[in-house]
Amino acid sequence: MFDISFLYEAKDVKDAIKKLTENENSEIVSGGTDVLIRVREGKDAGMGLVSIHNIDELKGIKQDSNGNIIIGAGTCFYNINHNEIIQKHIPSLGEAVNTVGGPQIRQTGTIGGNICNGATSADSASTMTALEADIVLEGPNGERIVNIKDFYTGPGKTVRDRCEVCKCFVIKKENFENYFGYYFKYGKRKSLEIATLGCSVLVKLNSSKDTIDDVKIAYGVAAPTPSRAPSAEAFAKGKKLTENFLEEFGEKALSDMKPRDSWRASKEFREQLIKEMAKRSLVNSIRRAGGKIEYYV
Ligand SMILES: Cc1cc2nc3c(=O)[nH]c(=O)nc-3n(C[C@H](O)[C@H](O)[C@H](O)COP(=O)(O)OP(=O)(O)OC[C@H]3O[C@@H](n4cnc5c(N)ncnc54)[C@H](O)[C@@H]3O)c2cc1C
Repeated sequence: MFDISFLYEAKDVKDAIKKLTENENSEIVSGGTDVLIRVREGKDAGMGLVSIHNIDELKGIKQDSNGNIIIGAGTCFYNINHNEIIQKHIPSLGEAVNTVGGPQIRQTGTIGGNICNGATSADSASTMTALEADIVLEGPNGERIVNIKDFYTGPGKTVRDRCEVCKCFVIKKENFENYFGYYFKYGKRKSLEIATLGCSVLVKLNSSKDTIDDVKIAYGVAAPTPSRAPSAEAFAKGKKLTENFLEEFGEKALSDMKPRDSWRASKEFREQLIKEMAKRSLVNSIRRAGGKIEYYV
């Protein structure tokens, strides 16, 4: 038995917002893979749960008339990884969510829950940050759109109000078209493991595939919130693949991050991971983009 005051099955987004507004001590539950753990541990004991689990409008993936990709917040990881649009345009996001937990968690856990829990370790967060996703929220005062760079405010904290439902994520065409990506999760086990560090890279090469036109690199667990590495990105732009730039790329990425000690890993170990994962993720992305680069990965 879970220690909750009520479980309400919302009919649609507006119904969920109404119930949340009427009950101060209530929260959204979607897949429940974070919420129910918190209830069981006593942190959220006694709360009312407003379930958005069965709201169809929150599920699925589509492209709008401009080619932008829209991912419903209630879409589970399995369905993201197996979706044709994701596989064609942003396979690195599919790979990232395919590292979450085990098969049961990937059938239940949603991308909305993964981003809205505010965790820097969330496996979708670094790739969604590299993709510069827009987050569509609806609350009692209507709809607003927050870019992911402005969404996180601290560990486990976001700008989302308790009564706001995250409806979907919009990934603009310009942020994925001609980019090739790679997600690198470092953990001590291959599955059922929270990331010690996550690194997601997207790279765009020039038409001759010998020069970097653009790079986006974002980390999870390298700072209190999922973060991009702007110095590394600026440094890599325009580099010829024959140049010896990988070491400095890793150093620049480290200079942008603020890793900490935790029971999972020391600050020093995370610093080593930040540099090495930057290099390997970039090399893998370049190779996926059709570029040739010498580096042993
Ligand atoms: C055994 C196990 C292994 C796990 N392994 C991993 C892992 O490897 N990597 C990883 O990243 N995570 C992991 N997790 C954590 C969890 O599965 C994910 O964070 C998942 O994405 C949460 O999604 P959910 O739908 O279950 O969220 P819920 O538990 O329903 O909600 C999570 C939070 O987000 C809020 N929320 C959910 N949906 C919305 C919405 N649409 N709008 C507004 N707020 C919303 C809730 O109020 C709550 O605060 C694991 C969990 C378990 C139990």
